Amino acid sequence: MIAKTTHIENTRNLLDILPVVDIGEPEDIFIALENARCPKADLTIKEGDHVKMYQVIGMRHGPFFDQPIHATVSGTFVGFEKHLHRSGKMVNFIHIKNDFKEEEDETVVHNRTKEEIASLTREDFMNIAKECASVGLGGSSFPTYIKFDTKGREIKTILINGVECEPYLTADKRMMMEKPEEVIEGIKLLQQAFGTKDARLCIKNKYKDIIAIYDEFLRAMPDSGITVCPVGNFYPQGWEIAMIKSATGIDVPSGHLPSEYGIVDFNVSTVVGLLQNVKYNKPVIERFVSVTGDAIKYPSNFSIRVGTPMKYILEKCGGYVHPEKKKVFILGGPMMGASIPSDDCICTKTVTSIIVLDHDESKEENCIRCGSCVLSCPVHLKPVQIMNAVKAMDKDTIKLLEPLKCIECGLCTYSCTSKIQVTDYVRRAKLFAKM
Ligand code: SF4
Ligand code: SF4
Repeated sequence: MIAKTTHIENTRNLLDILPVVDIGEPEDIFIALENARCPKADLTIKEGDHVKMYQVIGMRHGPFFDQPIHATVSGTFVGFEKHLHRSGKMVNFIHIKNDFKEEEDETVVHNRTKEEIASLTREDFMNIAKECASVGLGGSSFPTYIKFDTKGREIKTILINGVECEPYLTADKRMMMEKPEEVIEGIKLLQQAFGTKDARLCIKNKYKDIIAIYDEFLRAMPDSGITVCPVGNFYPQGWEIAMIKSATGIDVPSGHLPSEYGIVDFNVSTVVGLLQNVKYNKPVIERFVSVTGDAIKYPSNFSIRVGTPMKYILEKCGGYVHPEKKKVFILGGPMMGASIPSDDCICTKTVTSIIVLDHDESKEENCIRCGSCVLSCPVHLKPVQIMNAVKAMDKDTIKLLEPLKCIECGLCTYSCTSKIQVTDYVRRAKLFAKM
């Protein structure tokens, strides 16, 4: 009998227990000039200029918002270079030659006092998040400031997403283990911003070690309103809608916002980043990244400087086990992450993990109509029918099958008996459906 796939093989046992190591900074740092949400940019510096860490060196422009560009080291702007972005596209990067002096920009760095922080309104939080270019650090890259604008809706519950349900990923888990004080302090800021007491930190049920850490912290602050909310161990439990359902019982229908149901949710690493924005007025210039996969000699958890080349990071892992073999590179999790063609990639602030696998030579078989992909789809699509409609280029049927509801969780590919890349067909169907 074909079963619904919700459990993904846990491949991160080793990484789970490895502490985060500061990888150090490379000599060459690259900051993306554009990104998927902001395809244009202006720079306020010119080649040869000296830049300071945290300095605003330009502005990205998108159809809905602008985003400041910050230098992540001090040094010299030496020009542009094209490298792979996590989106899989070659884009222009601003090349900064690091002088290793860590000279901080005086216009950005300003520690706020407790009194100043206590007087901040939701609008202030929104402006700080915007000026610091805060985005979802769980990989979504969604601008944080937009989450503060709930269009006047009252927020009754704040959910902190510490679920990180994909295999291999450990950055959020390590963040929760290594920085519990910061996580709790960040949650308190959110309570202040939304005027909401009920804040729930969502953690997988099976992570008893992390739950124990927070239970102990929160026992000492019984009136904080912050609780640990153990949620299911299945995939995709970290998907916003599934997490909200598990944590509150509320089913947010497709096309609706959680705020319409009195809920906002933030990724746990984003919360720690926001704390840094608010407390020190500093943008995020460092992040945790897990580096793993069967092709990597020494899988590791690293703290990296934003703008570090992937090759530099892989060298620190001892390189490849079999350098001669063809590789598969994935940024983010193996289910929802993006596959990139080479290791000539730069780590931006939304790269949660680097996975390098030796290429699997096993071939796709024909579809045997087992229905496993249909049973496994968390948004109740019919991936096999979408695939067949894409193959037939039948645009009317594609639209009827509603591929735009797909959250690209990858379960249809993972569960496929015939090893077909079903998710790729659904992605193509989404493009057709938008035409
Ligand atoms: S169709 Fe989309 S949402 Fe459904 S299983 Fe496949 S990738 Fe996940
Ligand atoms: S695409 Fe794969 S999982 Fe879906 S019905 Fe065909 S063989 Fe089964």
